[in-house]
Amino acid sequence: MSIYKSIKFRLTVWYLIAIVLPLVAFGAVAYFMLSKNLYRNLDLALQVRVAELQNSITVQDHQISFEQKFNDLVLVYDADSVLLQRLGPNVRFSIIEKMVQQALFGQSSFLTTPTTEGQDVRLYAAPFNLDSRTRIAIIVGRLTSEIQDMLSIFRVIIIYSALAVVLLAGVGGMFLANRTLQPVDHITDIAREIGEGDLSRRINIQSEDELGRLASTLNRMIARLEEAFQKQRQFAADASHELRTPLAIIQAESSLALDKKRTQVEYRRSLDLVSQEVTYMSEIIGKLLLLARHDAGSEPLNFQEVNVRDLFTELSSDVEALAQEKGVAFNFGPMENLMVKGDRFRLRQLFLNILDNAIRYTPSGGTVSSSLVRKNGSAFVSISDTGIGIPTEDLPFIFDRFYRVDKARSRTDGGMGLGLAIAGSIAKLHGGNIEVESQVGKGSTFHIILPLLESPTG
Ligand code: ADP
Repeated sequence: MSIYKSIKFRLTVWYLIAIVLPLVAFGAVAYFMLSKNLYRNLDLALQVRVAELQNSITVQDHQISFEQKFNDLVLVYDADSVLLQRLGPNVRFSIIEKMVQQALFGQSSFLTTPTTEGQDVRLYAAPFNLDSRTRIAIIVGRLTSEIQDMLSIFRVIIIYSALAVVLLAGVGGMFLANRTLQPVDHITDIAREIGEGDLSRRINIQSEDELGRLASTLNRMIARLEEAFQKQRQFAADASHELRTPLAIIQAESSLALDKKRTQVEYRRSLDLVSQEVTYMSEIIGKLLLLARHDAGSEPLNFQEVNVRDLFTELSSDVEALAQEKGVAFNFGPMENLMVKGDRFRLRQLFLNILDNAIRYTPSGGTVSSSLVRKNGSAFVSISDTGIGIPTEDLPFIFDRFYRVDKARSRTDGGMGLGLAIAGSIAKLHGGNIEVESQVGKGSTFHIILPLLESPTG
């Protein structure tokens, strides 16, 4: 990444701009004020000097004399603009002619101009009445070199301190930006390692600032990814295992049948077994395909208004037969008249999977009961059994694909460990979910919660 595109560089530049701009403005204002003050003081000094001169002027035998002081420039012109006196550096008359005229007309004025030697001088011209008929013009001037020297020293100080501040601010800004963004580098490194396949890594940033929050959000995301990958791996392993068993049976049975000549009854028995295993496999594959279509959102669902009570009544004949066969009593609790929006066929499959489990995992003499009520704006279908129950530690996993609490027993019972995964996935497709409460040895209750469409009266 080019340095110019990095946040560190941009932060430093902005930081510098934020410091340099006010600094330059402050320097310019200070310089301007200082310069203005120095020149104003000079003008005041010139005015004072003129006043002193006026007080000390004497005329004797048409000769003007006055108190002399320093190396000030002094020019005295008579009413005809003829130079009467000159002290100090000289200036060209053509330049000051206008101010001399103005002074003779009674108006004072200032002017900055170069002397004949090329140095700048500030001039002040003022009228002076020698008597009621004679007016002369007095011009005093002082070189501005002192002010210019002072201003140039001030300029140097300002420029050097600005450069020092810029340098310090640049280094400090870079240091601060580096320090602040260090966790980002750490996050990038971890993300790279995770990208290379190590999902067990976590970002170790404990701060409570924005970066700390980002780190904990990313950590949660990585944990979810890790869990998803882990589940996927487990699923692939379980699926292969699940399909390998019937395949091994088919292979063994067919090898045995082909081994030597068999009787028709023996061939029939072998083919029966092969067909049974093939049916089992195709059932697993069918269910897996269904789940894959749910995951991909490609399962065509025929959403319509479904009366859950009617759907349950329809199901009950099948379920009652199943329960009777197993010696389990099947009861209906309260059944409210509730409507949901859903795919009738899939909802039927959802309820059947849960009811089928309830009967399967309830020993003979037990009871399975169901109810349908409205709760918090949802249809609440509860299916309870007095069966074997589910251990608390297994509860979080029972909706996982191929998960069985008792692995050995379920295969012989015909359970594939996919029924609840499909039920959960159908509930999710309908915007609902399934909750479970269970106690080992006492029984389980599954609550299927579906968003209500409306509650028809009657
Ligand atoms: P299976 O086809 O094995 O029944 P499911 O996905 O339907 O698979 O259920 C997963 C596991 O949850 C079952 O193997 C069983 O151990 C447990 N289970 C589900 N329903 C019940 C229930 N009503 N009572 C006890 N255990 C249950």
